[in-house]
Amino acid sequence: MTREQLRRRLEFYQDLGVKTVYRRACATPVAHPDACVVAQPLGCVVQAEACATVAQASACDGDTLENIRADIGDCKRCPLHQGRNNIVFGVGNEQAKLVFVGEGPGADEDAQGVPFVGRAGQLLTQMIENTAKKEGIPLLRRDVYICNVVKCRPPENRTPEPGEMEICGQFLFRQLAAIRPKAICALGGTAVRALLGRKDGVTRLRGQWHRWRDIPVMVTYHPSYLLRPYNQDAKREAWEDLKKVFHSVYD
Ligand code: URA
Repeated sequence: MTREQLRRRLEFYQDLGVKTVYRRACATPVAHPDACVVAQPLGCVVQAEACATVAQASACDGDTLENIRADIGDCKRCPLHQGRNNIVFGVGNEQAKLVFVGEGPGADEDAQGVPFVGRAGQLLTQMIENTAKKEGIPLLRRDVYICNVVKCRPPENRTPEPGEMEICGQFLFRQLAAIRPKAICALGGTAVRALLGRKDGVTRLRGQWHRWRDIPVMVTYHPSYLLRPYNQDAKREAWEDLKKVFHSVYD
């Protein structure tokens, strides 16, 4: 890879909102000695513990979910790796028109390596399939793509720290850029912060269209929030939000 190609790739990542670029650890020494020099003017922090080129971790044109998963590797970039059993990358249709983004894996997801398979996940599946059916849209969970902001389970299911979100967010952004869905549904505050960079509550932002790059983003409640018995109004609102998304994507 030439210096110019590397510069363009890093610019692409900067446009995606990626602020940190990591070099993947490998057996070969640094193949491009200028990598750090090129990265610094773009504001990227290149972690020094690894030994491959930035370019290896930075595919953009023709980036695929497979590449992105390979770049994650046996990730130890943030402290969340210490408690994980499985990296929970994402599941569903790799050419989906709609992507759901949650917060991070819980215990069931960590055990199975699949997002949204616990109680919240079962509710999400019902919400997708029942709402679509009622609206006359032939859509199953397997037709959409589902992933999270962070790929490793935070201890005690705590909210991911900003640093963890930033590190793992680069992979989420690459997943979204590779899939290029017609719309994204942000489930809860962590997804909203990662995608929109906004700290406003979900109640304020839900039900309206926002944007991640040029892709429309609908904000709605996280299914875990909807599982709480006193949130019946929120449940009704989440159903309304999903209807809006489905009609916009599938009509
Ligand atoms: N909550 C999330 O945000 N993601 C999951 O995968 C499961 C629960």
